[in-house]
Amino acid sequence: MSDALQLGVLLGDDIGLEVVPEAVKVVDAAARAGGLPIDWHDIPIGRRALDQLGTTLPDGTLDALERLDGWILGPIGHREYPKLPGAVNPHPILRKHFDLFANIRPTRSYRSLPSLHQGVDLVIVRENNEGFQPDRNVVAGSGEFRPTHDVTISVRVITRAGSSKIARAAFELARTRRKQLAAIHKDTVFKLGCGMFAEECRAVAAEFPDVAYEEVIVDTFAMRLVMRPQAYDVVVTTNMFGDILSDEAAGLVGGLGMAPGLSAGHRHAMAQATHGSAPDIAGRNVANPYAMIVSAQMLLDWIGRTKDVPRARAAARAVGLAVDETIEGRIALTPDLGGTATTTQMGDAIAARAAVHAAS
Ligand code: ATP
Repeated sequence: MSDALQLGVLLGDDIGLEVVPEAVKVVDAAARAGGLPIDWHDIPIGRRALDQLGTTLPDGTLDALERLDGWILGPIGHREYPKLPGAVNPHPILRKHFDLFANIRPTRSYRSLPSLHQGVDLVIVRENNEGFQPDRNVVAGSGEFRPTHDVTISVRVITRAGSSKIARAAFELARTRRKQLAAIHKDTVFKLGCGMFAEECRAVAAEFPDVAYEEVIVDTFAMRLVMRPQAYDVVVTTNMFGDILSDEAAGLVGGLGMAPGLSAGHRHAMAQATHGSAPDIAGRNVANPYAMIVSAQMLLDWIGRTKDVPRARAAARAVGLAVDETIEGRIALTPDLGGTATTTQMGDAIAARAAVHAAS
């Protein structure tokens, strides 16, 4: 392969077909203007792959992704898939196969947008591969089972290695920000599971004396997040708590269209917005592309830092400035943000500004 960055494009389903191309457009505009060559690789996934190739995750996909520097994954509408053997949910497979153990979900408020709070700038770092999620916490079978018609048992997996890895990723992130980290758990009740997670967070905290560390019980945190989200910088937690709290955080600042995410491991990363495929608004060119664009920006920044590609970091900065300008100036906003722009118009506005910043 050439010296160009190798990036995958996996459109996903429903609004994925609309927001992913905007993310590609914006990254491409910044990269071209900043002299960063990118080879894009279209990789089929989801409902379209099922219809064309008989499976939502075609053979060879994992090998193709392995060769890339990173990829953008659109939302997957697996709940709508027909009950066919090839109609699997690709999410847990990708996360597990590439050990994408950290799901990094930032939340930011903008003064120009209706928002329950202003001055919010926090990042939830969610453990991604164990916990309560039954499709993810076992190598075979399911973490949920029903021994009799009237009894269901769900198991939750917490490991020292997984807890330590996610804690370290969160502390490293906190060091690049306001140097404040809150670990969220409920070791008062889940004495062994949450207890182990907390022990590992404390052990890593000892290596980061420059980061202020606190622990908050999850129900207390859920309340404080609604009342004073400004009090938090980086937040680390287990899988399901992180899933719920990050949607709550998105609700504080304008909803799911404002909730980007990156699923990262040590060697691979995948841009993936927090929102689902939103079939209710698909096909109308009204979906907010912010979350997908900022997810792609996070991927560029991750590649820039972990693979030491200064131009990728510069392109990521340019995209960030362009997004902020477009939103703060209310230049082209989709209807969920109170604007009248289409998905494409918002993407165009951000791409044009990203190119200007990247060239300067
Ligand atoms: P999943 O469980 O797959 O994450 P979900 O049940 O959380 O999905 P979503 O598909 O994320 O549901 O969408 C919930 C609602 O939020 C949608 O019906 C849609 O109205 C809104 N929404 C989600 N994403 C966007 C977006 N990018 N732009 C505008 N509105 C969105």
